Amino acid sequence: MTTAYKNLIDGELISTNRTMEVLNPANEDVIGIVPSCGKEELDRAVAAARKAFPAWSKTSIDDRRAVIQKISAAIKDNADELFRLLTQEQGKPHEQAKGEIFGAAGMVAAQSTLSLDDEINEDSDTRLSRTRRVPVGVVGGIVPWNFPVMMAMQKIAPAMLSGCTIVLKPSPYTPLATLRIAELIKDIVPAGVVNIITGEDALGPMITEHPDIDKITFTGSTATGKKIMEGASKDLKRITLELGGNDASIVLPDADVGKVAEQLFWSSFSNAGQICVAAKRIYIHEDIYDDLSQAIAEYARTVTVGDGSQQGTGVGPIQNKKQFERVKELIQDARDNGYKFLTGGEEGDPSGTGYYVPITILDNPPEDARIVAEEQFGPVMPLMKFATVDEAVERANASEYGLAGAVWTADTDKGVEIAERLETGTVWVNEYLHLSPFAPFGGHKQSGFGAEYGKEGLQEFTYPQVITVKKNAMA
Ligand code: NAD
Repeated sequence: MTTAYKNLIDGELISTNRTMEVLNPANEDVIGIVPSCGKEELDRAVAAARKAFPAWSKTSIDDRRAVIQKISAAIKDNADELFRLLTQEQGKPHEQAKGEIFGAAGMVAAQSTLSLDDEINEDSDTRLSRTRRVPVGVVGGIVPWNFPVMMAMQKIAPAMLSGCTIVLKPSPYTPLATLRIAELIKDIVPAGVVNIITGEDALGPMITEHPDIDKITFTGSTATGKKIMEGASKDLKRITLELGGNDASIVLPDADVGKVAEQLFWSSFSNAGQICVAAKRIYIHEDIYDDLSQAIAEYARTVTVGDGSQQGTGVGPIQNKKQFERVKELIQDARDNGYKFLTGGEEGDPSGTGYYVPITILDNPPEDARIVAEEQFGPVMPLMKFATVDEAVERANASEYGLAGAVWTADTDKGVEIAERLETGTVWVNEYLHLSPFAPFGGHKQSGFGAEYGKEGLQEFTYPQVITVKKNAMA
């Protein structure tokens, strides 16, 4: 039976006459029906958020923390149901879906502990100057399909903590677990503080251009991010953009092949490669290239591609047909150009159901190959050979993107030295994919604008207000 899900507006669960179907990418079955909101529902949601704003923004930060912690607990208490639903709609294997649900609950709880303390700019004999942080107002949140729950919650939690209210739109491909969370938090959150509405892609621009929304927080592609910036410019909305990446890893000759092969594999293939910060290009020093590339390919052959709800699946399907076609096109391009495959590269069964792509690893394709130059966002990884560190750094930085990167080496001082030369917002030395709710996460260059997480991320939901008092002026 297909479940009908509702939206959350002004503390009520609502349905609409127009609806959308949500598919399971593992078998293309319809698994949910969700509302398709248009301008009327958006206006209602924004009006509810606006109405709730004055009272919510005046509550104490401790009271807001307590509500956010209840949301975290509700997610944790219902984790079993939520991770299964997440696998069904997103495709990721159960273990990874569990990681996202518990990760989201933990991130929400951690974010609730952040503070927005006043800062003293000057406290002299003549003057006291203090910066306080005031919430921007109504936030529009727009979320992609790769980590739908984590991304939704990393917008909702800081918006609430700052004193803002929010209207959040999940991706039309993956709204179900988020709408289940909407049901779970309906009676926890005061009416209108959090509104969750679903709709086709056309709903996104309506949010961006809505005159009564003060800020947009967006995660998705760089192409859409640019449209959001343009739309938001009409009334100078504040924006935070978390966008695409073409993240490079550099493996130095002193790296232990036996230790890093498996980690490098998962740095690329977790969530079927659909992670903004996945390793999308791996540069390996020529002294260890043959050994390491063989070790990665050997490990890849032990990993099962399949339905994420089945035990033993390591890599699930691509989340949607459009992305599936794009990834297949990149593999076809590699075949057409005669690039060598260490594993994968075959066409797959065109008559089969589900958006499965075999694990594909390319052997030293040229720098201008599409699979190297573009963000693949799928289970396809190019391994490239380099001779000198300067060359590797130059090739890693030769991108319009600047999201994340990694250095793998036995010499961590050297690793840090190279990390500091990479033009990205996050760089890991000898690990991957670790993001802290207490550290700012944001892209350089065309990978983003502003940051999420940490004090910087929280402050993006506020305006600074400086209050200056002249001392003894009336004395
Ligand atoms: P997308 O840009 O196609 O869609 C993201 C969201 O924007 C969806 O909710 C969509 O409905 C909405 N949208 C589409 N057109 C819009 C418009 N004109 N105005 C407003 N909203 C609109 O991205 P996607 O395909 O869902 O996600 C994949 C991309 O997201 C990849 O490039 C990936 O790297 C990036 N991403 C970045 C991060 C990060 O934190 N930097 C995290 C995850 C994904």
